[in-house]
Amino acid sequence: MAGTFVTLTEIEAARPVIAPHILRTPTVPSVSLSERMGQPVYLKLEHRQITGAFKLRGVLNALNRLSPDERRRGVVTASTGNHGRALAYAAGLQGMRSIICMSNLVPGNKVDEIRKLGAEIRIVSASQDDAQEEVDKIVAQDGLAMIPPFDSAAIVAGQGTIGLEIIEDVPDVETVLVPLSGGGLIAGIAAAIKGLKPRTRIIGISMQNGAAMAASLTAGHPVSVVEQQSLADSLGGGIGLNNRVTFGMVRDLVDTVVLLSEEEIAAGIAHAYAHEREIIEGAAAVGIGALLAGKIRLQGPVVALLSGRNIDMEQHRRIVAGYHPGETVPCRA
Ligand SMILES: *Cc1c(COP(=O)(O)O)cnc(C)c1O
Repeated sequence: MAGTFVTLTEIEAARPVIAPHILRTPTVPSVSLSERMGQPVYLKLEHRQITGAFKLRGVLNALNRLSPDERRRGVVTASTGNHGRALAYAAGLQGMRSIICMSNLVPGNKVDEIRKLGAEIRIVSASQDDAQEEVDKIVAQDGLAMIPPFDSAAIVAGQGTIGLEIIEDVPDVETVLVPLSGGGLIAGIAAAIKGLKPRTRIIGISMQNGAAMAASLTAGHPVSVVEQQSLADSLGGGIGLNNRVTFGMVRDLVDTVVLLSEEEIAAGIAHAYAHEREIIEGAAAVGIGALLAGKIRLQGPVVALLSGRNIDMEQHRRIVAGYHPGETVPCRA
């Protein structure tokens, strides 16, 4: 089955489209992690992106491809938070209507922030798949354009611009650590980096609690998994049983997938705060968490991508104070 494959050329074309509306985020050396690992470790500070996560890149590139007619009717999506937030923001910038459908696992702070950005919100039951059904209904009934969170060539190309920046900032990078959920982020970054420097290792990192892409790679085709609470809430959700773009790209371009426990993710958040002075959410902490856990075999310079900072600040306070994740995040049996 031949899926859509996003190329370096498409990613380079996305760059000037989105550049006027995004921050070109820095990549900085981490003294604490470099010392600890015995190799140069860099952090790509994409959690400082406008709206607090990288999702704005893909969304802006996708909106650019809409027709004038589609712009008049507006846009709709299902989202675990950061994609919906980016879409609400970008649609607002361009004076478009937006509707965001989401599951009731999405933290309250994220829902509130999206509402403040001017989007209409529809909350469905505890699954991302139910949210997607609601989206399909709105597309069919009201003719809004669906902007998917990851499984789209335009989205993947937008996220891939991060890869261009990493290679510019750290030309001798050997390994890139990327948070992995639906795979739009890592597919774009891998296409960009392997297109420019084919021998760079790209490692995807997910949480052990409900990693749909990891399970799909093992099965050899997209499968669904039971959704669970995790500190890395932005990594929740399935990859879509009819996945067209990201599954094939991740299978062909990503070298390894690593899974982390809740404790290892918490350690990443706490380290980023104590040693880097950065506030990051669980999904963004998996690169640091994997390094601290000794789960990455090091060979030369490493870049860990910090993907977002939209964490509930009360939860963040408890984690940096050293509480065990089991005490702060009730796990569903
Ligand atoms: C969406 C998201 C991810 C995962 O991106 P995918 O394209 O779904 O793999 C990682 N970190 C943060 C903060 C996100 O919002």
